Amino acid sequence: MQKIYFDNAATSFPKAPQMSHIISNFIDNNCVNINRGTYTLSDEVSDVVLSTRIRLASFFDCADLPVKFCKRIIFTSGVTESINMFLRGLLADGDHVVTGSMEHHAVMRTLYDLKRERNISFDTALCNEKGVVTASAVESLIKPSTKAVIINHASNVFGTISPIEEIGKLCKSKGIFFAVDTAQTAGMLDISMRKCCIDFLAFSGHKGLLGLQGVGGFAISEKLSEVLKVVKTGGTGSASHFYTQPDTLPDKFESGTLNLCGIVSLNHSLKFIEEVGLAKIREHERSLRRRFVDALSVFDGVTVYCGGDIFDTTSVVSLTFKDIDNGLVSSVLSSDYGIMTRSGLHCAPSAHSSMGTYPSGTVRFSFSYFNTEDEVDYAVDAVKKILKEKYNA
Ligand code: PMP
Repeated sequence: MQKIYFDNAATSFPKAPQMSHIISNFIDNNCVNINRGTYTLSDEVSDVVLSTRIRLASFFDCADLPVKFCKRIIFTSGVTESINMFLRGLLADGDHVVTGSMEHHAVMRTLYDLKRERNISFDTALCNEKGVVTASAVESLIKPSTKAVIINHASNVFGTISPIEEIGKLCKSKGIFFAVDTAQTAGMLDISMRKCCIDFLAFSGHKGLLGLQGVGGFAISEKLSEVLKVVKTGGTGSASHFYTQPDTLPDKFESGTLNLCGIVSLNHSLKFIEEVGLAKIREHERSLRRRFVDALSVFDGVTVYCGGDIFDTTSVVSLTFKDIDNGLVSSVLSSDYGIMTRSGLHCAPSAHSSMGTYPSGTVRFSFSYFNTEDEVDYAVDAVKKILKEKYNA
């Protein structure tokens, strides 16, 4: 039986071509630390880390000056850690936050925790019928104590995209910090931190950026970097005579040994993405999504959540089945057809609540640049067969 991976919203697979070669070469020849030793091997790894920062800063269009702006790229283990550093480093008693109903637990659980712990408050802007959290929905919830707006760029359940440029401009006009979770869009959509007035851009290295799990980070505006408190202190290899955390970037937010394997993987995968081009990646993924949605939309017994126009979405599609359990469909797809999907609530219960798919959730298909039309057709056929068996149609 063939094996088809349609769970790229969880983590991309396969990774960028030649990844195992790059990583094994690093492990065999350069796997030493940076910012600590004064030897050539360490300098070589430092160069790769610096080049990855520069690539990311340009990828997210952080600012004008090359040397300065790459320091505003901070490496973490991914979006979850980055968002924790943002919310926990920023919010104090009495602060208010606006978020959207499409958020992942990375945001929601952290906000709920801080509400209990620090007496902060937050309001959730409901998405519209297409699954989009609009700027006016966000604006209606802003009040004098609002310190930040945090929104995901695209839903990990429905693929719908938030109007971050509009929301960013709104936040800027009101003097509120704007944070964006790009877990589902980095590596697919163009994202300009400057154009969208983003103060905090959290990214995952292991999804659309095609790197290894356990690496990611954030890009931070100068204004925010001056006020954001550090939640993780420790050794940076710099200013070691001081017992306090350095104020300089990126060291302020990068204590402890970095995930260098992950960063090396990201440097390699970013090169691959630069070579192919985001437009080509996006076009391919969207054409697969369109093929899948078009083919399934004609069947009774299955509801396709496609969030409106194809150009307003990523490559994620959610399905629900009439009278068939989603978990069962996902498990039959795997056991009988070798198709890997994810069913349930996808760590985003409020996204499901706002689209009417809570508590049973959906079966999520998420395509990557490496999937093919044949694989999509095979999946459509598999779904057809499951429906046929159920309804004897
Ligand atoms: N936000 C969204 C929208 C996601 O889809 C995910 C991953 N499922 C995360 C946050 C968490 O990202 P990471 O794995 O990088 O911590």
